[in-house]
Amino acid sequence: MSLRIVSQSLFNAWSQTLVRGMSTQGGSKNIGFVGLGNMGGHMASNLIKAGHKLHVFDISKPACDSLKAKGATVYSKTAELAQNSDFVITMLPNNDIVDASYEEMTANGVNKNTIFIDSSTIDPNLVKSLQKRISAKGARFIDAPVSGGVPGAEQATLTFMVGGTEAEYNAVKAVLECMGKRITHCGDYGMGQAAKLANNMMLAISMIGVSEAMNLAMRLGLNPKTFAEIINSSTGRCWASEVYNPVPGVSPTAPANNSYKGGFSTDLITKDLGLASGVATASNTPIPMGALAHQIYRTLKSQGLGNKDFSVVYDFMKNDKY
Ligand code: NAD
Repeated sequence: MSLRIVSQSLFNAWSQTLVRGMSTQGGSKNIGFVGLGNMGGHMASNLIKAGHKLHVFDISKPACDSLKAKGATVYSKTAELAQNSDFVITMLPNNDIVDASYEEMTANGVNKNTIFIDSSTIDPNLVKSLQKRISAKGARFIDAPVSGGVPGAEQATLTFMVGGTEAEYNAVKAVLECMGKRITHCGDYGMGQAAKLANNMMLAISMIGVSEAMNLAMRLGLNPKTFAEIINSSTGRCWASEVYNPVPGVSPTAPANNSYKGGFSTDLITKDLGLASGVATASNTPIPMGALAHQIYRTLKSQGLGNKDFSVVYDFMKNDKY
């Protein structure tokens, strides 16, 4: 082996140690993780990679087995998991499951040093209610929903939107940095979810807008790639047109190229639009486009497209097979 190769490998080993040391600043923590699905599985794996000790639970045995193989301890009771954890992160499908999971986890008391972090997308009002219930028992609870999808979870590049006090934000930041690259303090409890719901409502509206425009241009005779290039260097440019174009063959890594499999499901965007609709009604806020987007996605669900990526709205709009 040449001197150059040896010194390069030594440098690589040194820089990996440095990165690991930086990501576990404050030492290795005991972290509970509940909900090891498409997002949670990758997020928990990244915490292990950063040197933390993981205590995990999911109702799915294969999901638990996969984390066990990476070094996590699997629990059958979340109350016990929480007692052994400095931080507990939940990444669960919806309001009812999050509510029931916290009830089970905290009913018989909590470890007062534990900080509970919910990263699921749920109603900001449920966040406020859980925060009251858990702080009454002596522990802390904050919301930290995420954006960035499954690739962001896998590559540890998620955006976290944190709702809680400044002190709580500072206490959780280093842990969240093991899973994301942007950790923003949005304000008090529930403000992380407020940011998440407004963002996802806009995402749904822009995806429908891109689908509508692509379909019109193609019916008028334009080549989809040519038209996408025009949008992406013009005023119509957005994430849905550039990174995640709904027309097959336009954006290289978009789910449209894979029959709309994987990605962010129509079921989940419909859930998020329902949550946005609820908080808009409660705050007397007009969301005409958001409400229409909600109805369009509910229609897709009723046509059996719930488990397809949400960019399938373009395929639906073409209207040549449904
Ligand atoms: P998922 O369905 O892949 O994973 C959910 C996991 O929760 C599953 O493994 C399931 O077995 C487990 N689970 C269900 N009930 C449980 C219970 N009572 N106790 C323990 N585990 C239970 O969903 P996901 O895509 O990982 O999304 C999780 C959350 O993150 C949702 O709230 C979603 O809206 C949000 N989110 C998803 C994405 C995305 O791109 N998929 C992006 C941002 C936010």
